[in-house]
Amino acid sequence: MQKGQIGINTENIFPIIKKFLYSDQEIFLRELISNAVDATQKLKTLAQLGQYDKDMSEAKIKISVDESKKTITISDEGIGMTEDEIEKYINQIAFSGAEEFLEKYKDKVDAIIGHFGLGFYSSFMVAEKVEILTKSHQKDAEAIKWECDGSPEYSIKPIKKKTVGTDIILHIDKESEEFLQSSKITEILDKYCKFLPIPIAFGKEQEYKDEKNIDTDKDKIINNTTPAWTKKPTDLEDADYVNFYKELYPASEDPLFHIHLNVDFPFNLTGILYFPKIRNNIEVQKNKIQLYCNQVFVTDSVEGIVPEFLTLLHGVLDSPDIPLNVSRSYLQSDQNVKKISNHITKKVADRLHEIFKNNRDDFEKKWDDLKLFITYGMLSDEKFYERAEKFALLKNVDNSYYTFEEYKTLIKENQTDKNDTLVYLYATDEKKQYSYIKAAKEKGYDVLIMDGHLDAHFINQLEQKFEKTQFTRVDSDIVEKLIQKEDVNETRLTQQEKDSLTPVFSVQAPSEHYIVQFESLQDSDMPVIITQSEFMRRMKDMAKMNPGMGFYGELPDSYNLVVNTNHELITQINEDCTKKLGKKIQDLDSKIEPLSKKKETLENEHKDKKEEEIPTEEKDTKADLSKEIEVLNEEKKSILKEYGKKNDLVKQVIDLALISNNMLQGEDLNEFVKRSLTLIK
Ligand code: ADP
Repeated sequence: MQKGQIGINTENIFPIIKKFLYSDQEIFLRELISNAVDATQKLKTLAQLGQYDKDMSEAKIKISVDESKKTITISDEGIGMTEDEIEKYINQIAFSGAEEFLEKYKDKVDAIIGHFGLGFYSSFMVAEKVEILTKSHQKDAEAIKWECDGSPEYSIKPIKKKTVGTDIILHIDKESEEFLQSSKITEILDKYCKFLPIPIAFGKEQEYKDEKNIDTDKDKIINNTTPAWTKKPTDLEDADYVNFYKELYPASEDPLFHIHLNVDFPFNLTGILYFPKIRNNIEVQKNKIQLYCNQVFVTDSVEGIVPEFLTLLHGVLDSPDIPLNVSRSYLQSDQNVKKISNHITKKVADRLHEIFKNNRDDFEKKWDDLKLFITYGMLSDEKFYERAEKFALLKNVDNSYYTFEEYKTLIKENQTDKNDTLVYLYATDEKKQYSYIKAAKEKGYDVLIMDGHLDAHFINQLEQKFEKTQFTRVDSDIVEKLIQKEDVNETRLTQQEKDSLTPVFSVQAPSEHYIVQFESLQDSDMPVIITQSEFMRRMKDMAKMNPGMGFYGELPDSYNLVVNTNHELITQINEDCTKKLGKKIQDLDSKIEPLSKKKETLENEHKDKKEEEIPTEEKDTKADLSKEIEVLNEEKKSILKEYGKKNDLVKQVIDLALISNNMLQGEDLNEFVKRSLTLIK
């Protein structure tokens, strides 16, 4: 029997393995099985080349647990190791600068393990003693047993072993006994080994006999050795892709489309990506792509490897060229990774374009589910925008879909305003904005539906991209002014009358955030209409999604209360007001007028003078005049307000406007109904 010391710097390695790698202990199984897969594949290759004459087609890897002996055994029928090879690959660990390395990668278990060929030694995370029983495939090779108890010492001795291959026996330590439960092993196998290329046997197939499940003597294979992405696209049907999706995400809805990736140059990448249905649940859908390296599961966090918006896709990527065992910041700057990422973006866009071209009907049907993904991509990736421009769709309130180009042609004639700006009208809520949509359609306009999660941002982007274009929500102004073509028709009220009616209406508005305006609309339009400025509303919508814009979010909603000066009821209100208050108002006005004149004269005189050239006396007079005018104005206002407050008709027309906006609720609505009844009587 031979004894020896393991490689260099082992004093440093074992504590690393034991303590620092503690967090992700379960990967020991992945590492050992990966080695077993490699060893089996190597021997298979030799057999194919005619350099090994046993049939390797049935070769598998067997995992077994012995709870009483507290061991886990990983057995393969692979290439095996000679004593020299054990010496070279196991005993001499190429490892230097352990401490420096540790400092850098403290929390990156995978980095340490894969990068430095510590795969096998990860077994010491869970085992107090490890044995390797191995017999090389080479002719007349002697079987040997290597044994190590976690100290830098090991022993090697010859043994009897009939079959070529390697058994790794782990004597599980006290703290790691959970790994002796077969449910735990099943869980780990399911996570890392589901798609390994060599059959992995764990436990036995069961059958139902004598009213219970009993083991048969048939090994239970836990993996699918030829997952869909390793096959040729020509060998697969649509149903195969859907089935594979279900294999990956058992409880999910069917995906919309798939893309089969297969690249050899300048890097190696295979995989299948799926478009899931995405409504507004972005976060739930993110980060489900699984990354494999030669069919070994590595991670399901692909940030940095694919552009942010692509993390919404599902599926599998497999590449031996992605440096998996390094930090994320390194990944992001890696040229290969950048190329892969660009390639995927391009493929995704190409595929969407292809479906759009070949089957537009289907594309339109799926658009509502695809939209969020595509919008996200267009907003976050300039290159993707350029590609998606050709197939991205706009949907109108009648459920028709148009490309950007088509839509422009559709509305050009009717929706260009007097400044030659093309106005895109949109709604964010078909029900709430119903009356505005209807009014716009009656005028021959088309209205888009923009109710998506990212649409507020998307609209801004489109306004910047399209030339001379403006997006306007249907309720942001009265229909005559949404797209201004020529100057509006004559008004029936004088400026003085409007000034008087302002307090009459504002006193009945639901809050001080309503600004009274007068517009001369058709007499068939509503007497009062409520609108919300496009700019403010959009800023607030964006603030909801974007904490940096909190300022806008905190502003109260403000509305315009637009009074239709040409409506019969408004004329009636005006006449009644003049009749009841005309005398009082005229008296006040006749008092205000001379004061205003006087003030104006003084101001004119002072216009070209410097502040210090104006006599103090005149300054005082001016201030006194202002005060007097203000007092009189206030008096006028309060008379008008008092009148407005008692005016049921004013209240009624405002409430009608609120109702058609779905803004009248609770007690106010109740009051409205009661008032309506009295008014009808
Ligand atoms: P890595 O797998 O990263 O090279 P390991 O420490 O896991 O590092 O293994 C070191 C080497 O030991 C392997 O490259 C292989 O040559 C040999 N080896 C490990 N396990 C086996 C096995 N089951 N059969 C044959 N050779 C093995």
